[in-house]
Amino acid sequence: MKLSLVVPCYNEEETVEKFYEAVKNAFINHIKEYELIFVNDGSKDQTLHKLHQIYNLKEENIKVISFSRNFGKEAAMFAGLKQAVGEYVTIIDADLQQRPEVVLEMVEVLDNKPEIDCVAAYQAERREGKVLSFFKSSFYKLINKMAEVDFVSGASDFRTFRQPVNQAILNMTEYHRFSKGIFSWVGFEVFYMPYEVQEREGGTSKWSFIKLFRYAVEGIMAFTTAPLKVATGVGGILSFGSIVYFIVNLVNYLINRNGMSQGDLIIGIILLLCGIQLLVLGVIGEYLAKLYIEGKNRPIYIAKNILSYSEEEEEM
Ligand code: UDP
Ligand code: MG
Repeated sequence: MKLSLVVPCYNEEETVEKFYEAVKNAFINHIKEYELIFVNDGSKDQTLHKLHQIYNLKEENIKVISFSRNFGKEAAMFAGLKQAVGEYVTIIDADLQQRPEVVLEMVEVLDNKPEIDCVAAYQAERREGKVLSFFKSSFYKLINKMAEVDFVSGASDFRTFRQPVNQAILNMTEYHRFSKGIFSWVGFEVFYMPYEVQEREGGTSKWSFIKLFRYAVEGIMAFTTAPLKVATGVGGILSFGSIVYFIVNLVNYLINRNGMSQGDLIIGIILLLCGIQLLVLGVIGEYLAKLYIEGKNRPIYIAKNILSYSEEEEEM
């Protein structure tokens, strides 16, 4: 099998058939062996019915996974990737905002450049309002400052990658998934390809501003523990400040013989105690951060390939 297309679908009754036709038309003279893996993410409309109709045509290699309720696009992608057996795997939306023709270009890159493992499409020009665009770029600045892996602004889930990349992604079994981070985390050689986002073929976007905001918070929580460490910094500054405060007062006493007033003393003690409290909270935060990362059960490393004499002999 050359290519697996993973297609998350939530209330896409207006688009799934168009999508299926578009893929067939685009691939007909280019890719013979491919499979379409539709994941019905608990749609409340006729999406599942439409998917069954497509399945019953028995024209192409089709898999339909249907969730018991709406679990979200991240879960849908994970379920689809689990079923994907192709040499290459593509994640693509059902609404035709991402054209199947672009997938052909991605496949071409992988065919011609063995050193590339993943082709990621990014929006060359954002087609959204100024406010949303501002929030999105601020999010990328913030998360890139805090997280240890890089997040590329404008890159989407629209990607085609080799099976080893798929296996690496599947090894990330965390429940709170943030695919942009997961793609960065697994590494590999990524080729960024500009593409133009099309208008939706029908239906509406499932993302409201609130949903996007929550998703952004999820991303920050999933890939950095920086917020847990804020207390350490603030506590450190307060403690240091209070010690300086006491020293200044001591010097003042030694030179001018001016004792500390009761008020000064109380301020100093409050600063010191608050600082120590925050520092201790910070220490707890550091342990919690470690525990949090351990809880995700991520692989300790991902090896791209291993060279060894014994294997070469086996192949010969
Ligand atoms: N989707 C999904 N589950 C959800 C929300 C969305 O499977 O809970 C699918 C949706 O059917 C579409 C893709 O994810 O195929 C992208 O969603 P959408 O087009 O609403 O997002 P946008 O393009 O507006 O970012
Ligand atoms: Mg869309």
